[in-house]
Amino acid sequence: MSTIPKIVILGAGYGGIMTAQRLQKELNYNEADVTLVNKHDYHYFTTHLHMPAAGTDTLENAHVSISKLIDEFKIDFVKSTVKEIRTQEKKVILEDGTLSYDYLVIGLGGETETFGIPGLAEYAMSIRSINSVRAIREHIEQQFAQYKQDKREDRLNVVVGGAGFTGIEFVGELTDRLPQLCRTHGIDPSLVNIYNIEAAPTALPGFDPELVDYAMKLLTKKGVTFKIATAIKECTPESVILATGEEIKAATIVWTGGIRGSRLIEQAGFESMRARVKVDEFLRVPGQDNIFIIGDNSLMINPENERPFPPTAQMAMQQGPVAASNIVASIRNQPLKKFTYQNKGTVASLGKGEAIGVVGSKKLKGFWAAQLKKVIDIRWLFIIGGVSLAMRKGKFF
Ligand code: FAD
Ligand code: NAD
Repeated sequence: MSTIPKIVILGAGYGGIMTAQRLQKELNYNEADVTLVNKHDYHYFTTHLHMPAAGTDTLENAHVSISKLIDEFKIDFVKSTVKEIRTQEKKVILEDGTLSYDYLVIGLGGETETFGIPGLAEYAMSIRSINSVRAIREHIEQQFAQYKQDKREDRLNVVVGGAGFTGIEFVGELTDRLPQLCRTHGIDPSLVNIYNIEAAPTALPGFDPELVDYAMKLLTKKGVTFKIATAIKECTPESVILATGEEIKAATIVWTGGIRGSRLIEQAGFESMRARVKVDEFLRVPGQDNIFIIGDNSLMINPENERPFPPTAQMAMQQGPVAASNIVASIRNQPLKKFTYQNKGTVASLGKGEAIGVVGSKKLKGFWAAQLKKVIDIRWLFIIGGVSLAMRKGKFF
């Protein structure tokens, strides 16, 4: 029987792909067996999903085959869904088999958090995967096509619940896409309503107030109706009901009100907050030195304000290589590397040619912020797939 350590990586998102790529670079021949497990045989660019969801870009541009990103002589890729993590037995149960591990990296990404609000899980759609955004896009197109037959006004209403970054980026794309759909179907654009509903006293809570103001004024001009400081308290098959009692009828309801970690984290018995595990400085589960958790399933506290860092791709892609290096160091009995997050800034798109961002102490808005957003997206493609992927999938100016 092989005595080579077995490393299993769960999830081929931002964190998982970076872990796999770093392991394939650092490990010597026959030093460890590495297996990467993912539900699909492709990696998707979550940070890009608001565009195919609205229909302003293709689904093709939002994913790439995993076989193009890893060296399959060095990493075994298993396309399967993880069903259970059994830490006592050092086993992962898949829908179609079992894997045992010596080292485990969990990078299964986030899930939609509905906070138990009645009807959301049943009737609202969410921006989480290629399949979920395909459903949103097709649903909106279908509503516009059917409006021509039955003239039901709510078919032209879209409610987006939550004005965090996902909600704001999505409504920005809708303001570009829905007028196009109106032209295709011969519909008067003034009949279309895009509502963005936010419970907090401002859109993009915690972000720079001047840039939030810029975003809201721009999006309002482009046709978004904001309802701020107004929580959604229920979702029905044809409407949302707000805390004020107001009911907004809409055939399309998209929930962007928050995320949590994977349910598998809770089921595995890890101590967690909304399925995010507070990892140690080396990205390990406290007390379990062979299990590393990265990306949206991990929780790290920002020492500057004692609050958790927001779950971002930026965080996941920085954690992946450190988790990989620390596994290699563990195998070699060498000292582990501490993880330190480097905030490279935040840029959010507001539709074609518009964005807002903060990079260091610099605030950006408008055209140049939008160009920076493209550069950030293309940089990710370059990091994981080199020039050829950046050229194939990157949207150039
Ligand atoms: P993910 O990238 O979500 O990957 C998880 C992987 O695990 C997926 O491939 C999934 O299919 C797989 N998986 C899940 N469950 C299972 C299972 N049971 N079995 C097998 N495989 C499974 N962050 C930024 O920093 N900048 C941005 O501009 C930005 N834009 C965003 C825009 C949108 C519309 C959204 C929704 C998010 C955005 N984010 C952004 C947040 C960012 O996308 C996430 O923080 C990031 O994807 C987390 O990476 P991850 O590796 O933890 O998980
Ligand atoms: P989020 O948690 O950041 O925002 C959700 C929003 O929904 C919040 O503003 C919250 O107040 C609101 N909300 C919650 N309950 C509500 C209710 N009942 N009614 C109305 N509003 C309600 O979630 P997100 O926007 O999906 O972002 C998830 C993570 O991904 C964050 O860490 C974010 O920074 C990151 N992200 C980053 C970018 C970017 O950098 N461009 C883009 C998208 C997402």
